[in-house]
Amino acid sequence: PSVGEKYEYQAEVSRLMDLIVNSLYSNKEVFLRELISNASDALDKLRFLSVTDSELLKDASDLDIRIQTDKDNGIIHIIDSGIGMTRQELIDCLGTIAQSGTAKFLKALKDSKDAGADNNLIGQFGVGFYSAFLVADRVVVSTKSPRSDKQYVWEGEANASSYTIREDTDPENHIPRGTRLTLYLKRDDKGFAHPERIQKLVKNYSQFVSFPIYTWQEKGYTKEVEVDEDPAEAKKDEQDDTTEKKKKTKTVVEKYWDWELSNETQPIWLRNPKEVSTEEYNEFYKKTFNEYLEPLASSHFTTEGEVEFRSILYVPAIAATGKDDIVNPKTKNIRLHVKRVFISDDFDGELFPRYLSFVKGVVDSNDLPLNVSREILQESRIVRIMRKRLVRKAFDMILGISMSENREDYEKFWDNFGKHLKLGCIEDRENHKRIAPLLRFFSSQSEEDMISLDEYVENMKPEQKDIYFIASDSITSARNTPFLERLLEKDLEVLFLVDPIDEVAIQNLKSYKEKNFIDITKEDLDLGDKNEEKEKIMKQEFGQTCDWIKKRLGDKVASVQISNRLSSSPCVLVSGKFGWSANMERLMKSQTV
Ligand code: ADP
Ligand code: MG
Repeated sequence: PSVGEKYEYQAEVSRLMDLIVNSLYSNKEVFLRELISNASDALDKLRFLSVTDSELLKDASDLDIRIQTDKDNGIIHIIDSGIGMTRQELIDCLGTIAQSGTAKFLKALKDSKDAGADNNLIGQFGVGFYSAFLVADRVVVSTKSPRSDKQYVWEGEANASSYTIREDTDPENHIPRGTRLTLYLKRDDKGFAHPERIQKLVKNYSQFVSFPIYTWQEKGYTKEVEVDEDPAEAKKDEQDDTTEKKKKTKTVVEKYWDWELSNETQPIWLRNPKEVSTEEYNEFYKKTFNEYLEPLASSHFTTEGEVEFRSILYVPAIAATGKDDIVNPKTKNIRLHVKRVFISDDFDGELFPRYLSFVKGVVDSNDLPLNVSREILQESRIVRIMRKRLVRKAFDMILGISMSENREDYEKFWDNFGKHLKLGCIEDRENHKRIAPLLRFFSSQSEEDMISLDEYVENMKPEQKDIYFIASDSITSARNTPFLERLLEKDLEVLFLVDPIDEVAIQNLKSYKEKNFIDITKEDLDLGDKNEEKEKIMKQEFGQTCDWIKKRLGDKVASVQISNRLSSSPCVLVSGKFGWSANMERLMKSQTV
């Protein structure tokens, strides 16, 4: 073979390779998951492009993955008929770290100071192509892109800072299209080249890959063969001449090798929900989204009629790290398929409002064109209907968590995604009815456990018309405010809004079950106990005192009034009916500093 041209790895790649090679990983076997997922991605890309350019398929119409092992020499071949790579793509993809999951991995590694964490992180993110070096000390990638008429070979070794690329000129090696990866296993890892072991790993890691994965297996069938008669037996037969003379045969096993389909290729969302177990849904979730925690809830549904699509949605157990998740809706959380062909995971924003961007799932539509683009999605009436249904299903799913026997589940949900729902109050008026029952707040009668608005309403006094709230920076300061005195005396419950976004969210809701939200710090608080007679007397008696105080305070206050809202404090500062509440003012100030 000709000597290849030598290239240096990008610095990050070298660092990653060092890490992989020089650390001991207990779950080395993830290499297979990573390499199969790359093969599957390459097939997805080809299938997607072939929709508009059927020429691409002409050299090989089968889209599959084949894994062949040589256990005596410790070699594994992983062959796909996908999009392959051009020479330049080999350099760009296998010598640098672009936007892949690998970059995410390196970042997480940097963030975690715990050196032992990397083992876990590999399982969580995967390190992509380079995970081949977990088990191999030499990797050869031979690849043929339909956009190039030449086949190229990339070759790299563990512990090296460079790799080589050359043209594959040996006709014996030629593949019509796609990629053949060859792993030369490290001495201690040769066991991975056992066909049964590979098949077991494929079953375990790749049951949700939507292309057939064949493994090269030794098979056998039994065969009857004639054997020479044993003389003693022959004698016995002669004496017993009532039985018909039979030829002696023996059963032998004939061995041969063949490809065996090793995964289930029907996408899980096409199956009947009644026949899929929770474990299967959870497995699918973990494999598809590289998650290691089980989801809090899932929902599998089909819609028919006007618009037809299938979907499985999930609520994750924890929010993605970094608060930019709520601001930046590009989360790759929704994988869009059209007629089973994976299209993109970039369209979350078109299918879900950003406050629900934490919802993960797959969507498969029969009504969208395969060459769908963002522009088409944004204009499409079908997508508008899909979006509505998806949002509704997401809310049903969240409501389901809130009604679960296990109160902790919803507490977990609220901890992670409560902020998102409050953002929904501000951004999605249309769904107020669905969001409001999911909200949780502390209150004057429940400082430890949050309550729902339904619980509040149930606890309302017969004559009580409104829902009272006070916004504050903590439960303690809410509890100690003089505004509360009269309400506590009357045993009226007051919501404590202690999260900065709470007040704005509530103001957007305006009411719940026809009960208005009332800020107890605003002037004019009417507790339904107005006594006109008494007020008149008070006004006469203290009117001049008020005028005097107003004169002394001047512009510092808007007005000084007699109030019936206090019971033990002599006076209180309240906000005007139309102005900002004190809490809002505090917020605005903190934003401008
Ligand atoms: P990721 O899959 O997250 O992009 P990887 O390290 O696994 O990161 O792979 C890097 C890139 O190498 C892929 O994005 C792809 O462009 C290319 N690649 C890897 N394996 C294959 C393959 N079997 N066929 C075509 N391209 C591949
Ligand atoms: Mg990958």
